[in-house]
Amino acid sequence: MTRPRSRTRWLMTLVLGLALVTAACGGDTEDGDTGATGGGGPATEAPQHPEGSTMAQIQAAGTMRVGTKFDQPGFGLKRATTGEVEGFDIEIARLVAEAIGPDVDIEFIESPSAVREQLLENGDVDMVVATYTINDARKQRVGFAGPYYVAGQDIMVPAGNPLGIQGVDDLNGKRVCSVSGSTSVENVREMAPQAQVTEFDVYSKCADAMGDGRIDAVSTDNTILLGLVEGSGGKYELVGNAFTTEPYGIGVRKDDVQYRNFINDTLEDMYASGAWADAYERTLGRFVDEVPEPPEVDRY
Ligand code: GLU
Repeated sequence: MTRPRSRTRWLMTLVLGLALVTAACGGDTEDGDTGATGGGGPATEAPQHPEGSTMAQIQAAGTMRVGTKFDQPGFGLKRATTGEVEGFDIEIARLVAEAIGPDVDIEFIESPSAVREQLLENGDVDMVVATYTINDARKQRVGFAGPYYVAGQDIMVPAGNPLGIQGVDDLNGKRVCSVSGSTSVENVREMAPQAQVTEFDVYSKCADAMGDGRIDAVSTDNTILLGLVEGSGGKYELVGNAFTTEPYGIGVRKDDVQYRNFINDTLEDMYASGAWADAYERTLGRFVDEVPEPPEVDRY
């Protein structure tokens, strides 16, 4: 009598164990790094979204297309060797995808600064998470959930700061590099009108140009620069005198308020659960010691 019973129990344990393993794998994205989104809670049943909503459409498609940067260590970096993407923006995108549905995969699409609005307007991406400053000019063309992070524009110079650049005023008369379509290049032109500005499409090209001595300084958000400093092997340093405020938002199509609100709810959930802090620690935490308080979401 006891034998068949214990065998049944053993079988049940096995089935339960398999079910748990399967559930644990359910929230995986295309990169296959289970647990990378950590702290977001276990993937459970697929959530129900309003019919016709962007969330429902993404869930049905099974893939979310995310515009991000591929050359910004700490935020969005694609590893040439493995093709894997990593960084704080990547983690934020993963947490949003997970909230849409535990089985939603992500296709990451490189989105240099100048093409972010266009990608959203054309419907080529479902959202942009790409060190993307929220401002009124951009709000004419796209919508923003967030902010989910606040940076400040700063300056990167060769180690030892040979020209003694201490702040934005000192960029006048210097060869300064930044990126087309960014707030950074606009700010340099406005705040240091005598700077000789070189524009590229991505920041890594500015860093290369400084390595060759073609320019004297690179200016953009401090956290982007910290990633480039870290990657320079001691060749570059940060001036450390931020002169703007850059609240990062998640770009969506302009009039999709329902989707924007859903992302804002998801951001507040990840602030409350600790998933945001966990994502920060594992990415930007490599360059910045303290995990800051997440900014308050602005539901305009
Ligand atoms: N946050 C600024 C911007 O959105 C500079 C960084 C970037 O170009 O991505 O323009």
